[in-house]
Amino acid sequence: MVAERWIFWHRRDLRLADNLGLARAVAATPAVTGVFVLDPAILGAADMAPARVWFLLESLRELQQCWREAGSRLLVLQGDPELLLPQLAEALAAPVVACNRDVEPYGRSRDRRVAAALQAAGRKVLVDWDQVLVAPEALKTGGGDPYRVYGPFLRNWRGQVKRKTAAGSALSGGIEPVAAPAGLVDFDPAALPEPRASLWVTLPLQANLPSLEELGHAFEGADLCPCRPGEAAALAQLQRFCDGEPGAGRGIPLLGYEPGRNMPGEAGTSGLSAALKFGTLSPRQAWAAAQQARQVVVALGGAEEALTSIGVWEQELAWREFYQQALFHFPELAEGPYRPQWKHFPWDNHQGHYEAWCEGLTGMPIIDAAMRQLNESGWMHNRCRMIVASYLVKDLICDWRWGETAFMQRLVDGDLAANNGGWQWSASSGMDPKPLRIFNPATQASKFDPEGTYIRHWLPELRHVNTKDLLSGEIAPMERRGYPAQLVSHKSQQARFKALYAALPKPGSELIRR
Ligand SMILES: Cc1cc2nc3c(=O)[nH]c(=O)nc-3n(C[C@H](O)[C@H](O)[C@H](O)COP(=O)(O)OP(=O)(O)OC[C@H]3O[C@@H](n4cnc5c(N)ncnc54)[C@H](O)[C@@H]3O)c2cc1C
Repeated sequence: MVAERWIFWHRRDLRLADNLGLARAVAATPAVTGVFVLDPAILGAADMAPARVWFLLESLRELQQCWREAGSRLLVLQGDPELLLPQLAEALAAPVVACNRDVEPYGRSRDRRVAAALQAAGRKVLVDWDQVLVAPEALKTGGGDPYRVYGPFLRNWRGQVKRKTAAGSALSGGIEPVAAPAGLVDFDPAALPEPRASLWVTLPLQANLPSLEELGHAFEGADLCPCRPGEAAALAQLQRFCDGEPGAGRGIPLLGYEPGRNMPGEAGTSGLSAALKFGTLSPRQAWAAAQQARQVVVALGGAEEALTSIGVWEQELAWREFYQQALFHFPELAEGPYRPQWKHFPWDNHQGHYEAWCEGLTGMPIIDAAMRQLNESGWMHNRCRMIVASYLVKDLICDWRWGETAFMQRLVDGDLAANNGGWQWSASSGMDPKPLRIFNPATQASKFDPEGTYIRHWLPELRHVNTKDLLSGEIAPMERRGYPAQLVSHKSQQARFKALYAALPKPGSELIRR
């Protein structure tokens, strides 16, 4: 008997190993065909970054090869998924389309529309949570509400991860990664009977993946970007981070994550953010690697600092899930400030200042180095993301949503949940209970780039400047050699910002009642 053919629809899970939706499909039938839809609504969006399109295309190229090696194929279509998925399912006579769930408002509404179209044609849709260790619906306070504060979220999340660890395989409620499928069964398009054959030839199949240029983008930072596309590269990167690089003469980055993670001049973080965003790596694979490292450290009678470092990295994975569950439960976060009084903030929104910030020409070296890193490599160190975000909002007094968009237009790992969460945290408009957080860029630079290594790397025109001036930004005109003077004074802008904040309508006042 010929096995019935199912379709697996890849979105932000560009891998075969430990892909839960795919694993469930394969458990039902070996005749599974993969599909990815290049959706113009996403790829043509005003905030799409060339670096992300680069990462996507390169990862898809590798994924096609992986599907061939597993015995089947990955089809790439271009167009509207709502029209294309039902057409493809009809052409392949597939009774089921499987996929993994998304937390973003666009993804969720698209999935509802696609599911309705498929169901109207008598097909089933099988969905799974794959991009998080714990499903957002499973994370509720004692009162049954979603979490707004990270601390209590983390406690619940950790408890659930512990229970899932005891449950074993991710296919039976645990978090142990699932192996990649093998021995899949392909089909012969030339053998499709009519009318399915006619339907097949009208599909907008991309026999060869389009180039970045054909999709209207250009990106020259591939060699500078720390995030490498594809499933194999993500696993290799995870291994280097957790086990070290043989012969590299460096320690194991994970074991020195605390305090290494805060030093932008060092490669102290994993660089896996794009892999986790596009799903070339699963969170379970990342978690499993951290647990293995923990076991080795414990077995060797491990140092306290190494165990602390592993724990801190796990907490970063938890931040990622905190923001995902927040966006899932509060989709309005994508529309603006979580705290309503911020809707009334009288931003300066000085266009020239904003552009100088975007280009790395503010005259404050740590800010400009970070923005140049972003512009050139498509990525920015986390410490610097916090510093430049605070500077845009609290020194230049620009609406944080301008910064949120600028980041999305540039970041290889640009992710609505994490980016919006990071900006709302930095702007003080989000769920974070601390009311006002203002970073002094000079103090931050002195603490986290004390030798000016990072600044000199990204601002070569300032290599000759002495470290003290480089960190403070107080560079004598003669020494600047074309580098701009500071746009604003941190001291006076901080005072202005605080005054504007103090004058905001208070929570509960008439003005801000929704
Ligand atoms: C203003 C601002 C905007 C940000 N925008 C994004 C974004 O668009 N996409 C994105 O993935 N991260 C974003 N972050 C979070 C963080 O900066 C990046 O995840 C991190 O720099 C990625 O580097 P890494 O992979 O080496 O991280 P590591 O330090 O190795 O951390 C491991 C993983 O944990 C997750 N993670 C770490 N920190 C955070 C965090 N604060 N919030 C959510 N997840 C986290 C990431 O998936 C990361 O890959 C933003 C932070 C700020 C302050």
